[in-house]
Amino acid sequence: MNTYTGGCQCGAVRFRARGTPHHASICHCRMCQKAFGAYYAPLVSVRKMEFEWTRGRRKTFRSSNFVNRGFCGDCGTPLTYEAPDGMAVAAGAFDDPSAFPPSMQWGVEAKIGFVDHLHELPGAPSEDDLEADSFLHQIVSYQHPDHDTPVWPSEDHA
Ligand SMILES: [Zn+2]
Ligand SMILES: [Zn+2]
Repeated sequence: MNTYTGGCQCGAVRFRARGTPHHASICHCRMCQKAFGAYYAPLVSVRKMEFEWTRGRRKTFRSSNFVNRGFCGDCGTPLTYEAPDGMAVAAGAFDDPSAFPPSMQWGVEAKIGFVDHLHELPGAPSEDDLEADSFLHQIVSYQHPDHDTPVWPSEDHA
């Protein structure tokens, strides 16, 4: 059985999903835009998987009479969309988001027009940002690593 782990940016909340992902999609609806602070929300349905919170607990915001949105109360990372017909997890919160290629777009009535043209934008690696160059080389990440850890934060940056 496949096991997928993930969590929030700070590591206070971690989760594990086992089995076969039911469905991965992106949602353009205005609620998902707002909840993710993004142009659209990438979501992996875990309704047919064994899912458990392995560290900490998410906080939830009741965004409608039917839906709760889960997030980390410490760092704010969006984590879940929880509806009566099941739960979906924010794809980017998984340790390997590339494991869940989306197969559907929902809420297209609210799609922001330029979203269909993002791949046409010029691209550059982080190191090419010369104005940020002075601090990029001294940066120390406090982001939880993309795997489970016995102790977090680790002692070396407590
Ligand atoms: Zn967090
Ligand atoms: Zn939505």
